[in-house]
Amino acid sequence: MIFDNHNRPITYLRLAVTDRCNLRCFYCMPEAGIRYMPKQQLLTYEEMERLVTILARLGVSKVRITGGEPFVRSELMSFMHRLAAVDGISDLSITTNGVLTAPHVADMAALGVKSVNLSLDTLDRERFRQITRRDELPAVLRTLDALLAAGIETKINAVVMEGQNTQDIVPLTELTRDRPVDVRFIEEMPFNGEGSHYPVLHWTHRRIVQEIQSFYPNLTKIPDPRYSTSANYRIPGHQGTVGIIAAFSRTFCGTCNRIRMTAQGTLKTCLYDDGVLDVRELMRSGATDTGLEAAFLRAFAHRPANGFEAESHRSTVTESMATIGG
Ligand code: SAM
Repeated sequence: MIFDNHNRPITYLRLAVTDRCNLRCFYCMPEAGIRYMPKQQLLTYEEMERLVTILARLGVSKVRITGGEPFVRSELMSFMHRLAAVDGISDLSITTNGVLTAPHVADMAALGVKSVNLSLDTLDRERFRQITRRDELPAVLRTLDALLAAGIETKINAVVMEGQNTQDIVPLTELTRDRPVDVRFIEEMPFNGEGSHYPVLHWTHRRIVQEIQSFYPNLTKIPDPRYSTSANYRIPGHQGTVGIIAAFSRTFCGTCNRIRMTAQGTLKTCLYDDGVLDVRELMRSGATDTGLEAAFLRAFAHRPANGFEAESHRSTVTESMATIGG
């Protein structure tokens, strides 16, 4: 296992397979005028498989496929089958908006996909349309049902946005009553392609917990899995659990075991850095596996202690989460 300069193991890669998305969530992307990367600037599946193989040799055992929306890239499931066969990868997971996902659920279950994060900010069709600028809630709910029917571990990720969907916190929490689903509420971050919406973030992790507690006074803290980014709770009698991710307050950096690869092959060792290594350039200029390994190790030896330090080393955060690989 490889440890970074703050003694944190690096075991988890979030791999963006595309920067394209079929939704236009206002907190993630502008409605129009997005400049997608030309296809030749995106990593090919072969390049991704190569770097996952190298990272697995260095101790990465978990890969979560992300984007953009992973299912808008063609042949995604064949690529997942190839990744599942990489030596050392024991946990292959995916995060998706669920619009195109339902038809692939049986294949994912057969492949042993460990968990699916489904992004869903509201159960109200009109609010869903306003937030995502697309009328796709029914398709997302079909995916949720299919995932649960297939017995795949499912987490719902909901970004909490002041003035937009705070009235959805309780209805989304209610999903845990009869379903074995983890509903996780995420603090909004300034990765919307434009910069922060708020001078101050009012809906912090503390306020989200208070809101849930005011409706469910018996909300009970449960132990957090190792390296968890969420603080986890259970409502007695409910099948599922509730989690809060302090993504803006950045309370979990001390145990961060994750790195990110953007769709164009830039390594990020912190969500808040602006890219620390151009892996695509290295690969396309003929780097050997040993050379790539050495470059990764150098990057891991210079990780910022936390997201505040990473942010302080760069210009203002304005990029879209879809280009980062959220
Ligand atoms: N399309 C996939 C999905 O919807 O899960 C994967 C990519 S998406 C960028 C990954 C996650 O980032 C989603 O759960 C999304 O809600 C979250 N996200 C995007 N912009 C965000 C922001 N500004 N603040 C917090 N979370 C954000």
